Amino acid sequence: MTKYALRKITIAIDGYSSCGKSTLAKAMARELGYIYVDSGAMYRAITLNFIRQHVDISNQEEVNNALQDIHIHFQKDKEGNNHMILNEEDVEAEIRQMQVSSMVSQVAAIPQVRRVLVEQQRKMGQQKGIVMDGRDIGTVVFPDAELKIFLTASPEIRAIRRYQELLNKNQDTSLMEVRTNLAMRDRIDSTREDSPLRQANDAIVIDNTYLNEAEQLQKALDYALTLIET
Ligand code: C5P
Repeated sequence: MTKYALRKITIAIDGYSSCGKSTLAKAMARELGYIYVDSGAMYRAITLNFIRQHVDISNQEEVNNALQDIHIHFQKDKEGNNHMILNEEDVEAEIRQMQVSSMVSQVAAIPQVRRVLVEQQRKMGQQKGIVMDGRDIGTVVFPDAELKIFLTASPEIRAIRRYQELLNKNQDTSLMEVRTNLAMRDRIDSTREDSPLRQANDAIVIDNTYLNEAEQLQKALDYALTLIET
């Protein structure tokens, strides 16, 4: 238990693609002794399953049937990192590939998919002491979260960071492909009818274009500690 684990709050982190949400969320959870949940991984796992099963996402019945056969959960590895498990298979690496990235926003716009995942996400947060990142966490999943952070960074910086991350994982892609994918996902995510990405009215904005990881963590922790210690 950490020195901060006295009062448990809910922390929601939302923002556009690749602006460092999971890096911040993971670090905050580690510092506070909280659970960390990457909600995007859940949408990615469903997408991977739909791709493998050739689900026609325009067919509601097919989508419903496919959803009934999907069971997902997170499992920690020896280093304490979360891995996404899809029907007993570790798909952590596969869900980060471009094939999934290029389909995930279309799948995440489907209301039945969101209903199933939001229910699961709310269960994970019942005991509080959670940091969850995504697109609708402060607006839909946990509208009563004590701390809501809306993270932003310039599109160019986001593309370069994600490109670098994919290169480090030996994935075959180009900066242009990454930039195009981010722009497409941001457009679909913020214009969909069900739970579009938007900043909650009571969210605080952190622009990390010119912040390093330690600086953004300190800023966010300052907000969290003010709430936890009062
Ligand atoms: O966070 P990440 O970029 O891995 O999320 C992948 C996609 O999942 C997003 O582009 C978005 O379409 C969808 N998503 C969502 N709602 C969330 C988290 C992710 O619609 N809470």
